[in-house]
Amino acid sequence: MFIPTLKEKPREAEIPSHTLAIRAGLIRMVASGVYSYLPLGWRVLRKIMQIIREEMNRIGGQELLLPALTPAEIWQETGRWYEYGKEMFRVRDRKDKDYALAPTHEEIITDIARREIRSYRDLPQIWYQIQVKFRDELRPRGGVMRAREFIMKDSYSLDATVEGWQRSYNLHRDAYIRIFTRLGLEFKIVSASGGIMGGSETEEFMVPSPVGEDTIVYCGNCSYKANYEIARGIPPKLELEDKPLRKVYTPVGGSVEEISRFFDTVPQQLLKSLLYVKQTDSGKQPIFLLVDGAHDVSETKILKLGDLRPATSDEVKEWMGASIGYISPIGTDIPVYADIGLKGRKGLITGANEDLYHYEGVNIERDIKVNEYTDIAKVAPGDSCPQCGDKLIIESAIEVGHIFRLGTKYSEAMGATFLDRDGKNKPILMGSYGIGVERSMMAIIETHHDEHGIVWPQSVTPFQVLVTTLNPENYDLVQVADNLYKELMKRDIEVLYDDRSTSAGIKLKDDDLIGIPVILILGEKVWRDGMVEIKIRATNERIKVKHEMCVDKVLNIIKEMQDATQ
Ligand code: ATP
Ligand code: MG
Repeated sequence: MFIPTLKEKPREAEIPSHTLAIRAGLIRMVASGVYSYLPLGWRVLRKIMQIIREEMNRIGGQELLLPALTPAEIWQETGRWYEYGKEMFRVRDRKDKDYALAPTHEEIITDIARREIRSYRDLPQIWYQIQVKFRDELRPRGGVMRAREFIMKDSYSLDATVEGWQRSYNLHRDAYIRIFTRLGLEFKIVSASGGIMGGSETEEFMVPSPVGEDTIVYCGNCSYKANYEIARGIPPKLELEDKPLRKVYTPVGGSVEEISRFFDTVPQQLLKSLLYVKQTDSGKQPIFLLVDGAHDVSETKILKLGDLRPATSDEVKEWMGASIGYISPIGTDIPVYADIGLKGRKGLITGANEDLYHYEGVNIERDIKVNEYTDIAKVAPGDSCPQCGDKLIIESAIEVGHIFRLGTKYSEAMGATFLDRDGKNKPILMGSYGIGVERSMMAIIETHHDEHGIVWPQSVTPFQVLVTTLNPENYDLVQVADNLYKELMKRDIEVLYDDRSTSAGIKLKDDDLIGIPVILILGEKVWRDGMVEIKIRATNERIKVKHEMCVDKVLNIIKEMQDATQ
């Protein structure tokens, strides 16, 4: 078998799963974000896809296959030809027609639906595909954790009624819980924002891990969970004295750290006055966003305020006559949106609209005309839960799945309607639900490895058992190994047989690296007593058994391991 293992950490790998996927001979890079899957890696991916298939079929999903090459017109109908920007790979054919290599398939599905679905009798439907998608990611990362060509399971639900639509969503949610549990992943389901997919309510399946590119926020006490972008935290109480407004010479840089050091106070006493530019029909308009010095503005939350971007330093100078770090809405009539956490706060410090000067004693209600208090701040360390008041935990996580309630966004844009019971034509209610196949594999490696290598869960391991002979020159021992190999194969166990004539040390190292959960070790020393060793990769435990008992013992061990992820 072709398993090109490597002793050393490859230079291009930054995170453990990437390093191990290369060292264990699962994947090889072809170009940035483009990989080949070698036999061992492909076996794992196929097992993941099989689990996904079983659970999708269980909820009534029907597998189909859609093209990767998709005509521009279909994306132009919904506007995503333009919205997707550089992330969409585009190609031109010999007749100068434009195509996209599909990054996702809502448009293609909606096109099938509008041609074929006529009446409520044709609904509901759940259609899914497991296939390659293309995204020209800005920063491909972690091997196939974030690739540019990758396999996704994507499913789409089509419903006639709101109840049916909710049901399809919940069926997927339950299926995803079963899928990720079977994959041996510990995950959290967090509510998130729809982003470019549209749709109001979406949830992400997140695997906590230090290498995750997403951040999740959850309560250590109650059920509160959310994506970092939209989570709400209650800032710690900071009681400050109400003082008159006073201008202070602050001859330091304007950053939160420098100003709080200058005043010898905590960042929370600072009022960050951020000048943004709102693009309206009549041109650009400055607006102020206010958060306290311990918090940042959430780019996702401010989407509700319109088309905003931070003002450039030139614009700040032009409008305010001072530099970033020394500005505030005090004394101006620029519209102000303040974070709800700021309501009633006093004794604050903010810019005085003059370089090297700040105001202290700012009472927000008294000194600033706030148009609206609204939720615009990102959660910060130290914030507490909006539901129960306990401490919030902020943690990195890997997004492995995402479920969207699309509603009628695509069916309306593309005219996918059906004739309802009441004789009226209505847009189909849709949902879309994705799982990253490679990313799931990488999340498994990331959460199932030790310093020696991967430790596969039984459900996705490329082989269930590894048989290895430490003394391939010993004829008797090889006979026993051959026999065990055949016996296990007869019981439908997937066995990899390491009969290479390399040193025992190298073999044992490789065996640990590729992570097959049960290893049968046949060595002369132990064999003298008619015994073989069973090594449990996860715990390093070695059990000696009589060779004639070995097959039954192995079957039992596998069964126990399987039960643990069912
Ligand atoms: P991300 O925020 O990580 O870019 P996304 O929100 O763009 O993900 P979706 O469009 O919801 O992702 O795709 C569904 C699933 O496909 C994701 O949950 C993830 O598991 C997987 N996925 C998305 N982009 C990639 C990629 N570039 N490489 C590998 N898997 C990916
Ligand atoms: Mg993305």
